[in-house]
Amino acid sequence: MSFIDADKRKFFNEVKEKSRQPIELCYQCQKCASGCIATGFADYYPNEIIRLVQLGQKERVLNSSSIWICSSCETCGARCPNGINTAEVMDALKEMAIAAGMVKEKNINLFHNTFLNSVRSHGRVHETSMMVIYKIKSGDLFSDMDVGLEMFRKGKLPLFPHRIKARGKIKDIFNKTAH
Ligand code: SF4
Ligand code: SF4
Repeated sequence: MSFIDADKRKFFNEVKEKSRQPIELCYQCQKCASGCIATGFADYYPNEIIRLVQLGQKERVLNSSSIWICSSCETCGARCPNGINTAEVMDALKEMAIAAGMVKEKNINLFHNTFLNSVRSHGRVHETSMMVIYKIKSGDLFSDMDVGLEMFRKGKLPLFPHRIKARGKIKDIFNKTAH
């Protein structure tokens, strides 16, 4: 891509390098958006995020909800005729938004971190403690209580975590991928 503005070029190059995706090949066919499950909740469609990255629009992209609403289902990547895995681009943008202190959807980021901390501690997620920690930290104490109680009643929320044998290996993965 050719840019007049050096900052825009820098942002485009950074996203391309971090995501390892051929973002420059996107020609806005919108196949990604037409299969995306998150468009009803996002502020930009996935093809729009790619276009904004092509244009070096750092503030708009890093301040968007879309990069957090994306559930990494990878439907977009499977549909893209140019082999662009937009989920990888979204992940790279999340990391950049965190580094820049521009996290729009703070509770989604908190949920990600609480989930990963639970996996780091037990080798797999312990839903009950994870949800208690998330609820306390987010201050969102009462949403989905009915679902939680129903799951507890059916034994889907165990009181104690199931620890896996190779917990050390899981910790090694976390240590290797720590930023
Ligand atoms: S499917 Fe691929 S080429 Fe088409 S708009 Fe989406 S990212 Fe761009
Ligand atoms: S990975 Fe994200 S952007 Fe792609 S289809 Fe799924 S939710 Fe949409």
